[in-house]
Amino acid sequence: MRALDAGQHVVCADNQTVFYCRMDLATATVIYCLLVAALFLGLWMFYDRRDHALFEHARRKSTFLCIRCNHLYAAAGQPDSCECPRCGHSNSRLSF
Ligand SMILES: [Zn+2]
Repeated sequence: MRALDAGQHVVCADNQTVFYCRMDLATATVIYCLLVAALFLGLWMFYDRRDHALFEHARRKSTFLCIRCNHLYAAAGQPDSCECPRCGHSNSRLSF
């Protein structure tokens, strides 16, 4: 293989054209660090949004205590009353 100048392209034996550009180590390191930082930022944003959605979903549940069978259960949203899944009695929402 012959020596390469900046921006020169070389045709390999399998007819693939490969472009080389001269880049010093500091520039390559900065680009690599930026790519890694962008990757971690993307992962952090993805998991933060997912955890926030899960938290909001859990937060919007209402808790009910059945006065007939003493069963504690939760329902999505903020309904004023909900039927007990165990005995079917309609209970009003607990307020703290
Ligand atoms: Zn019940």
